[in-house]
Amino acid sequence: MPNEQHTGTPPLADLKAQLGDKLLDTGPELERLSQDTSRYRPQHRPLAAVVASHTDDVATALRWANEHRVPVSVRGAGTGLAGGAVSYPNGLIISLERCNRIRDLDPVNRLAVVEAGVIPADLDQAARAHGLFFPPDPASVEISTVGGNIATNAGGLRCIAHGVTRDSVAALEVVLADGTVINTGTRTRKNVVGLDLTSLFVGSEGTLGVITAATVRLKPVPPGTPRTFRASFDSIQAAGEAVTDIVNSEAQPEVLELLDAYSVKIIEEFYPSGLTVPKAAVLIGQTVGHDAAETAEAITAICARHGASEVAVADNDALLEARRLANPALSARGLRASCDVGVPIGELANVFRGIEEIAERHGRAVSIVAHAGDGNLHPTVEAGDTEEEYLAAEAVIVDISKLAVSLGGTISGEHGIGAVKHHELPIQLDQAVRDTQQAIKHALDPHGILTPSRAI
Ligand SMILES: Cc1cc2nc3c(=O)[nH]c(=O)nc-3n(C[C@H](O)[C@H](O)[C@H](O)COP(=O)(O)OP(=O)(O)OC[C@H]3O[C@@H](n4cnc5c(N)ncnc54)[C@H](O)[C@@H]3O)c2cc1C
Repeated sequence: MPNEQHTGTPPLADLKAQLGDKLLDTGPELERLSQDTSRYRPQHRPLAAVVASHTDDVATALRWANEHRVPVSVRGAGTGLAGGAVSYPNGLIISLERCNRIRDLDPVNRLAVVEAGVIPADLDQAARAHGLFFPPDPASVEISTVGGNIATNAGGLRCIAHGVTRDSVAALEVVLADGTVINTGTRTRKNVVGLDLTSLFVGSEGTLGVITAATVRLKPVPPGTPRTFRASFDSIQAAGEAVTDIVNSEAQPEVLELLDAYSVKIIEEFYPSGLTVPKAAVLIGQTVGHDAAETAEAITAICARHGASEVAVADNDALLEARRLANPALSARGLRASCDVGVPIGELANVFRGIEEIAERHGRAVSIVAHAGDGNLHPTVEAGDTEEEYLAAEAVIVDISKLAVSLGGTISGEHGIGAVKHHELPIQLDQAVRDTQQAIKHALDPHGILTPSRAI
C-alpha cells in the first residue's frame, strides 16, 4: 500500500472531466486491464483505468493520483509474469496500450523514437524496411509492449549476441509521480553528463515513473543465411559444461538454448515438432553472418567433445521451433510454479546438479528450459489444482532461488520481481541495498503512489 492515503472517496469526477472517455470506471475492459499473465489476481476491484493516448493523459492522471494519494498500477500489454501490472484495491490503472506511435525512424543514426505501447515486433518490422532490426526479442515479442520490455528489462533468445533490452535503450521520456515530464539520455552513443537516469528507469517495473516514450537503438540485419544447430546429451551437466566452453570460444552463436528431456517430452506431447526426446537435454541454437555455417560446425564440434550423442545443423530455423513451443506447452499442462534464475556462465553444470538434488529432496519433478548462453534458467514445477499443492511447488522454487544466489547468481534474470517474487527479495538483497533502493523511490515518489509494495 502507499505510504499515506487520504480518507474518503477520491473525486473521480474531476479526472473524468479532464480525460472524458479515456477514463473507464466499469465494465469488462476495466477487468481486463486489472490483470496480467501471472497467477497473481487483484484483491479487490480498482477505482478506474486511464487508457492514455498521449503523454499529457499520463501526466494528468498522475497529478490527480498524487494529489489524492491513490495507488497506481502501470500497464503495457499485461504479458508480465510477475504480477507487477495487477491493479490495486481502489487504485488507478494507467494503460499505455494506445500510446502506440512510432514517432521517428532514423536509419542513419540507427535509432527509433517510439511510444511505450508500440509492439516490439511492429518496430522490428518497420526497421527491417531499412535493413535494420530491433534486437530485444522476448518470446512475447508479438504481444508485449516496448514500454513493458523496458520496465522489466526483458531478455529473450538473442541476448547472448545482442544484450538485454537495456543495451538497446538510448533515451527515455518519463512521467514522474507528480506529473512532471522528464527526458533522460541522448541520441549519442556516448554520454557522461550527470547521473544515468535512463539506466535507473530500465527494469524499475513501474515503481519510479511511467515511461511514455523511448529512443531505442537498431542494428543492421546480419548478412548471409542463418544456420540452426542441435546437440543431444545424455547428461544435463555435460550440456552445461559444453555451453560454458562455447561461450568462451571464438565461435559465437546468436541463440543458445537448452531444453531438458522432460520439457521436450511435454512439447512433443502437446505440439509434436519432430524433436527426438534426448536422454537428458538438448542444446538448440542459431548462428548468423557470412560464416554462419562454419560457426555452427565449430559449436557442434565442441558439443561432440563434451559427449553429445547426436548433432545436426540446418539452414532454416526448423530446429528452433521446439524452443518456441516450450511456453505454450508447459502452460497447457496446467498450474505450475516457475522462476527465471540466472547464474554466472561457469556455474551452469553446478546449478543443474543442485536442481537435481533439490528435486529429489522435495520428491517433485522439475523441468528446465534455459537461455543457456546467458546462464538464465526457467525451472518449472508442476502443481495440482489446490493452494497446498501450489505452496509445495513454490517451496521448490524458493530453494532453487537460494541455490542460484549461492552460486553468485540472481533470483530473476528477465521477468522481474513484481508482486509474485517480492517475498524472495531478501534472498538476494541485504537490508542496506533495499534501504538504498527505497531512498531512491522516496525521492521520486514521496507519497508512494506508484506500484507500491512491489518490485523493490
Ligand atoms: C508467452 C510469453 C512469453 C514470454 N517470454 C519472455 C521472454 O522471452 N523474455 C522476457 O523477458 N519476458 C518474457 N515474457 C514476460 C513478459 O512478456 C515481459 O515481462 C514483457 O516485457 C512485459 O511487457 P508488457 O508490455 O506486457 O508489460 P506488463 O505486463 O503490462 O507490465 C510489466 C511490468 O512493467 C511495468 N510497466 C509496463 N509498462 C510500463 C511503462 N510504460 N512505464 C513504466 N512501467 C511499465 C508494469 O507496471 C509491470 O510492473 C513472456 C510472457 C509471455 C506471456
